[in-house]
Amino acid sequence: MALVTMKEMLRSARQEQRAIGAFNIANYEGAAAVIKAAEAEKSPVIIQVYQRLFNSDKAYDLAGMLLRLAQRCRQPVAIHLDHGDTVEHVRNAIAWGYTSVMFDGSRLPYPENLRLTTLCAGYAREAGVSSEGEIGHVAQGDETELTDVSQAVDFARQTGVDALAVAIGTAHGYYQSAPQLDIERCQAIADALPGLPLVLHGGSGTPLDDMRRAIQAGIAKVNIATEYMDTYLQTARRELNALDGKFIPIDKFYDPIIDACSEHAARLIRFFSGN
Ligand SMILES: [Zn+2]
Repeated sequence: MALVTMKEMLRSARQEQRAIGAFNIANYEGAAAVIKAAEAEKSPVIIQVYQRLFNSDKAYDLAGMLLRLAQRCRQPVAIHLDHGDTVEHVRNAIAWGYTSVMFDGSRLPYPENLRLTTLCAGYAREAGVSSEGEIGHVAQGDETELTDVSQAVDFARQTGVDALAVAIGTAHGYYQSAPQLDIERCQAIADALPGLPLVLHGGSGTPLDDMRRAIQAGIAKVNIATEYMDTYLQTARRELNALDGKFIPIDKFYDPIIDACSEHAARLIRFFSGN
């Protein structure tokens, strides 16, 4: 039984200036590859499901599979709702067995973000699951709004979230040009909130040197979605081309994709843990 919340794994990561990788999945192969990487690296890991999948039956059905994968894993695994968009997303995730939830009110006016995140963090606490909120805004097809240090302190204290996503210059998706990370801002937030794990969204494609400095400055969770899913797609494309129209049982087709994704996740887990 290795199903856990994010709480303990992120607290100790922050203390030890390490980070835990949080990988977005949408199906069995992506999830199985993360579990395989956690076991190979003997490291805790977070598997997360994006909020869009909570607008259909997908996130509910995936939960059943993710719980089994986590329970048979010998390393701690947290199952997390990524970018919860409504209170209903959060309540459903908790009801369906996810052990961690994010409510993302970063596009809302501050008082509304504060109110709804506090509500969701309260539901999480009552249910014994961990919570994440976002202050400032990490670009998601729009503009980044860098996190204000004193607002971050107010937000963290009032909401009681277990992890705080901050905007320090990263963005979601692939970068057109290298991002400029504001490490001093990250350090100032970390210093003002001792012990609170900070979260870096938009990890895909962030230069590793910058990532290392951010982890030393309080980042304890790094979200990886785009580049992990891209490894899946690129491997699938290569395998399909190699088949050249011939039939293959679908489980055999997926095996090399699981291997490639697992190696990708393992490489990042090693890096995040400082190795
Ligand atoms: Zn994100």
